[in-house]
Amino acid sequence: MFCKHCGSQIDDDSVFCPRCGAVQTAPVQVQPVPVQQETTNVLAIVGFVLSFFVTIAGLICSIIGLKRAPQLGGKGRGLAIAGIIISAVSMALAFILLIVLFALYDSLPYNPFLYS
Ligand SMILES: [Zn+2]
Repeated sequence: MFCKHCGSQIDDDSVFCPRCGAVQTAPVQVQPVPVQQETTNVLAIVGFVLSFFVTIAGLICSIIGLKRAPQLGGKGRGLAIAGIIISAVSMALAFILLIVLFALYDSLPYNPFLYS
Protein backbone atom coordinates (compact mmCIF):
# COMPACT_ATOMS: atom_id res chain seq x y z
CA MET A 1 0.00 0.00 0.00
CA PHE A 2 1.00 3.64 -0.14
CA CYS A 3 1.51 6.09 2.71
CA LYS A 4 -1.51 8.28 3.14
CA HIS A 5 0.75 11.19 4.05
CA CYS A 6 3.65 11.14 1.64
CA GLY A 7 2.52 8.54 -0.85
CA SER A 8 5.61 6.37 -0.70
CA GLN A 9 5.18 2.65 -1.07
CA ILE A 10 5.19 0.84 2.29
CA ASP A 11 4.36 -2.62 3.55
CA ASP A 12 0.69 -3.47 3.68
CA ASP A 13 0.83 -4.16 7.42
CA SER A 14 2.91 -1.12 8.33
CA VAL A 15 1.63 0.91 11.24
CA PHE A 16 4.00 3.81 10.61
CA CYS A 17 5.40 5.04 7.36
CA PRO A 18 9.20 4.38 7.44
CA ARG A 19 9.82 7.49 5.38
CA CYS A 20 7.69 10.20 7.01
CA GLY A 21 6.50 8.44 10.14
CA ALA A 22 2.82 9.09 9.54
CA VAL A 23 0.49 6.72 11.29
CA GLN A 24 -1.14 4.36 8.88
CA THR A 25 -4.66 3.66 9.98
CA ALA A 26 -6.25 0.40 9.06
CA PRO A 27 -6.87 0.35 5.35
CA VAL A 28 -10.45 1.12 4.54
CA GLN A 29 -11.97 -2.08 3.34
CA VAL A 30 -14.06 -1.47 0.31
CA GLN A 31 -17.23 -3.27 1.20
CA PRO A 32 -19.31 -4.45 -1.70
CA VAL A 33 -22.49 -2.45 -1.66
CA PRO A 34 -25.03 -4.85 -0.23
CA VAL A 35 -28.04 -5.55 -2.35
CA GLN A 36 -30.88 -3.54 -0.93
CA GLN A 37 -32.65 -6.09 1.16
CA GLU A 38 -35.99 -5.69 2.78
CA THR A 39 -35.26 -6.12 6.43
CA THR A 40 -38.68 -5.24 7.72
CA ASN A 41 -41.98 -6.59 6.59
CA VAL A 42 -43.29 -3.30 5.25
CA LEU A 43 -46.47 -4.83 3.94
CA ALA A 44 -47.31 -6.32 7.32
CA ILE A 45 -46.90 -2.91 8.96
CA VAL A 46 -48.87 -1.14 6.22
CA GLY A 47 -51.54 -3.82 6.41
CA PHE A 48 -51.76 -3.52 10.17
CA VAL A 49 -52.16 0.27 10.03
CA LEU A 50 -54.56 0.17 7.09
CA SER A 51 -56.74 -2.42 8.77
CA PHE A 52 -57.91 0.30 11.15
CA PHE A 53 -58.86 2.73 8.40
CA VAL A 54 -59.23 0.97 5.07
CA THR A 55 -60.30 -2.50 6.04
CA ILE A 56 -60.13 -4.17 2.63
CA ALA A 57 -56.74 -2.67 1.75
CA GLY A 58 -55.46 -3.58 5.21
CA LEU A 59 -56.63 -7.15 4.80
CA ILE A 60 -54.94 -7.52 1.41
CA CYS A 61 -51.67 -5.98 2.62
CA SER A 62 -51.71 -8.14 5.73
CA ILE A 63 -52.25 -11.34 3.74
CA ILE A 64 -49.38 -10.47 1.36
CA GLY A 65 -47.27 -9.49 4.38
CA LEU A 66 -48.02 -12.82 6.02
CA LYS A 67 -47.04 -14.69 2.86
CA ARG A 68 -43.76 -12.80 2.69
CA ALA A 69 -42.96 -13.23 6.38
CA PRO A 70 -41.11 -16.57 5.96
CA GLN A 71 -38.76 -14.98 3.40
CA LEU A 72 -37.95 -12.30 5.96
CA GLY A 73 -37.18 -14.76 8.71
CA GLY A 74 -40.67 -14.52 10.13
CA LYS A 75 -40.51 -10.76 10.56
CA GLY A 76 -43.88 -9.07 10.71
CA ARG A 77 -45.73 -12.36 10.96
CA GLY A 78 -47.52 -11.41 14.17
CA LEU A 79 -48.26 -7.96 12.81
CA ALA A 80 -49.68 -9.40 9.60
CA ILE A 81 -51.87 -11.84 11.54
CA ALA A 82 -53.03 -8.98 13.78
CA GLY A 83 -53.84 -6.93 10.68
CA ILE A 84 -55.89 -9.79 9.23
CA ILE A 85 -57.75 -10.31 12.49
CA ILE A 86 -58.48 -6.59 12.91
CA SER A 87 -59.62 -6.34 9.30
CA ALA A 88 -61.85 -9.39 9.70
CA VAL A 89 -63.28 -8.15 12.98
CA SER A 90 -64.00 -4.66 11.67
CA MET A 91 -65.61 -6.12 8.56
CA ALA A 92 -67.73 -8.43 10.70
CA LEU A 93 -68.70 -5.52 12.95
CA ALA A 94 -69.61 -3.36 9.97
CA PHE A 95 -71.70 -6.22 8.59
CA ILE A 96 -73.48 -6.79 11.92
CA LEU A 97 -74.05 -3.05 12.30
CA LEU A 98 -75.56 -2.93 8.83
CA ILE A 99 -77.93 -5.83 9.62
CA VAL A 100 -78.89 -4.27 12.96
CA LEU A 101 -79.55 -0.94 11.28
CA PHE A 102 -81.72 -2.56 8.65
CA ALA A 103 -83.57 -4.54 11.32
CA LEU A 104 -84.15 -1.40 13.37
CA TYR A 105 -85.19 0.52 10.31
CA ASP A 106 -87.85 -2.06 9.49
CA SER A 107 -89.06 -2.54 13.02
CA LEU A 108 -89.52 1.12 13.83
CA PRO A 109 -93.18 1.78 14.31
CA TYR A 110 -92.72 5.36 13.36
CA ASN A 111 -90.05 6.25 10.88
CA PRO A 112 -89.27 9.95 11.05
CA PHE A 113 -87.47 9.75 7.72
CA LEU A 114 -90.51 8.43 5.91
CA TYR A 115 -93.30 10.32 7.65
CA SER A 116 -91.85 13.71 8.29
ZN1 LIG B 1 4.82 8.59 4.54
